Amino acid sequence: MEDAQHFVAGNWTAPSSGESIDVIDPSDGQVFSQIARGNAADIDSAVRAARATYEGPWGHTSAAERGRILFRFSMLIAARGEELARLEARDTGKPLREARADAAALARYFEFYAGACDKLHGETLPYQAGYTVMTVREPHGVTGHIVPWNYPMQIFGRSVGAALAAGNACVVKPSEDACLSLLRVASLGAEAGLPAGALNIVTGYGTEAGAALARHPGIDHISFTGSPSVGTLVTQLAAEHHAPVTLELGGKSPQIVFADADLDAALPMLMAAIVQNAGQTCSAGSRVLIDRAIYTPLVERLRAAFDALRVGPSELDLDCGPLINAKQHGRVAQYVDNARRDGIRLAAQGQIVPDAPRGGFYQAPALFVDVPAEHRIAQEEIFGPVLAATPFDDEAQALALANGTRYGLVAGVWTRDGARQLRLARRLRAGQIFVNNYGAGGGVELPFGGTGQSGHGREKGFEALYGFTTLKTIAIRHG
Ligand code: NAD
Repeated sequence: MEDAQHFVAGNWTAPSSGESIDVIDPSDGQVFSQIARGNAADIDSAVRAARATYEGPWGHTSAAERGRILFRFSMLIAARGEELARLEARDTGKPLREARADAAALARYFEFYAGACDKLHGETLPYQAGYTVMTVREPHGVTGHIVPWNYPMQIFGRSVGAALAAGNACVVKPSEDACLSLLRVASLGAEAGLPAGALNIVTGYGTEAGAALARHPGIDHISFTGSPSVGTLVTQLAAEHHAPVTLELGGKSPQIVFADADLDAALPMLMAAIVQNAGQTCSAGSRVLIDRAIYTPLVERLRAAFDALRVGPSELDLDCGPLINAKQHGRVAQYVDNARRDGIRLAAQGQIVPDAPRGGFYQAPALFVDVPAEHRIAQEEIFGPVLAATPFDDEAQALALANGTRYGLVAGVWTRDGARQLRLARRLRAGQIFVNNYGAGGGVELPFGGTGQSGHGREKGFEALYGFTTLKTIAIRHG
């Protein structure tokens, strides 16, 4: 991996601007590397390289061979898992064990999609006498992938893994706040046998390289993961050339805990759902809705668990690392301060360890209780380790509270009542529902995506392959 360069057409290339962007370690706030500041010209070179191989070597590679290449890619990622994890932990600030899990998930995405390459097929359709009609699934062509900073490896894996498996050539614009792992991964793709241009990475700011990618007329599909506001901008830019867009946006996901739930099983998952990656997770369980019959004892258990949380630099591998940058740190702190000012009860806060470097972006995890449903911390995505607890009196109220935000990404239900499990699973407005668990450990195989302000389209699992293909109908009249 070369410093401050893009990976285009199988080569490390200098940015045409000649400029770079400092990379800051969130654990101490110090600059430790540089990345290239990409612009529209760099994006154009990457799109041209992708088109050339799509119409050439990559487009002529059989599905089975694509699978072999992606499987080798997966094996190389697994072999370099520790190196990738250390790079990711430094770049994002997340605890090392979480970065290791991300590297393992990245390898698993390529393994899963390697196996799927030659199992994606169309149908034959009954039609009039004398006709044979079939559908075939074809790649879009050149796909653009705009990736956020919170899970660079996982989000790259689910989106680029599926796009390559379906036969597309990819141009990736990672976040300016975390992209070192993906640059390393790009060279492993080349080593695995991806032809030059099948996977290109252009780094830089969203307003420059990201916008240039979304508006480029040579891009046939855009996969965007990030904030709702930028999702709107990307959709508008892509609409100028009618490219379809998959949007994976944020969430304000609820977990509903009924009085008959197994609280011993629920508690660690309620905590992990908001503490993982310091709450900077689109599917974070940032609201807990609790049956009033068990509200006080469960809040007490949550309070004790929050009190015990420790926050520090990534290499100490504590419960939480720092937030990604100063802006995000200020934003989360503001939500906590405003909630306190509004009289919302702060029941517990974790602690930042004394030896955490002073320049790091550390935020003590916070548990707010008795949070009114309409309050901002119950409605807006904070993207930090802040949990809002609200009591409910019956199932109907729990459902109304759970569905009462503009988001609809994930929801969790904790109850032993089978009929209630199914009723709520059907009535909750979210793309994924978990019953007596949450997140299912990431679930590479499980389709993922939202409704409403959480976005549209599905990634992960086999479903993603449909999104990265276009369906063609062939009608043959043979008499
Ligand atoms: P962001 O929207 O600021 O940035 C995401 C990506 O878009 C980055 O690569 C950025 O450079 C790029 N970008 C920014 N402005 C752009 C523009 N004008 N044109 C084109 N690209 C542009 O989001 P973020 O701060 O990096 O990530 C946090 C957000 O992402 C949260 O809202 C979170 O919920 C969401 N997210 C969603 C999922 C999901 O799967 N649903 C996963 C992770 C993060």
